[in-house]
Amino acid sequence: MNKIVKIKVCKNEEFSFISTFRLDLLNALRRIAISEVPTIGIEKLQIRKNESNANDLFLSHRLAQIPIQSSGYNTIEGFNYPSDCVCESSICEKCAVIFTLSLTNNTTMLLDVSSSNLKSNSKDHKPMPGIKITTLGSGKSIEFMCYGRKGIGKMHAKWQSTTICTVTSIAKITPKEKCDLVKLVEVCPRKVFKHDDETNFGLPDIEECDFCGKCQEFAEVEDGDLHVFTLEACGQFKALELFLLAVRLLKNKCKELKGGVDELIIL
Ligand code: SF4
Ligand SMILES: [Zn+2]
Repeated sequence: MNKIVKIKVCKNEEFSFISTFRLDLLNALRRIAISEVPTIGIEKLQIRKNESNANDLFLSHRLAQIPIQSSGYNTIEGFNYPSDCVCESSICEKCAVIFTLSLTNNTTMLLDVSSSNLKSNSKDHKPMPGIKITTLGSGKSIEFMCYGRKGIGKMHAKWQSTTICTVTSIAKITPKEKCDLVKLVEVCPRKVFKHDDETNFGLPDIEECDFCGKCQEFAEVEDGDLHVFTLEACGQFKALELFLLAVRLLKNKCKELKGGVDELIIL
């Protein structure tokens, strides 16, 4: 049965668990999490004034890196891709979020301009705060407007919502008959096996095994039935939220596929 056996990490930026899920299922979720979860990314920039220490090109690159946080999946799902919108890829409130920034450094010190200074015209889509964009010298100003548009990681990395997403197998290790257990404990660089005072061989910590093969003289190492799924979020969504979105997208894809197969007409 497909089930989560243990949750290893559940933080805003990382979610990791051990499960008996099939490997192909986990890999499908991994690929969807990396490239198919829709997010908002900054795409067009109109600069009115830029006296900062970053040139216009650098500024546009910095802005594209800022994760835009959306309030839940329904919000982003209800938002249109530019190509699907009734405005036909022009700009409207259903397919574009407008961000503006206007700042003058009235101090005698250098002033950092960050994503916290960006103002959004939408209560549902806000830039992740605290990300430095550029620096303003004394008496200098910056003023621009940019558009956030919906996209997926497959289109461009700026829409990607995960930095790392991996699936690894947990080893199944069986010591060979009459093998030297002391040597088996010693040979493993990851210290998977523990010394036990009586038997010299304690229960293996199999999660640590990286399949290096150095113990093959003493033990059989093969893929086990347990797999570790690890996902790190970029900031648009919390890591657990992102995983659940990938599950939802996979379910929708399966439904679509099943519907398509049911409609197949075999001549
Ligand atoms: S394959 Fe490498 S890491 Fe795994 S148990 Fe053997 S020696 Fe240790
Ligand atoms: Zn539109």
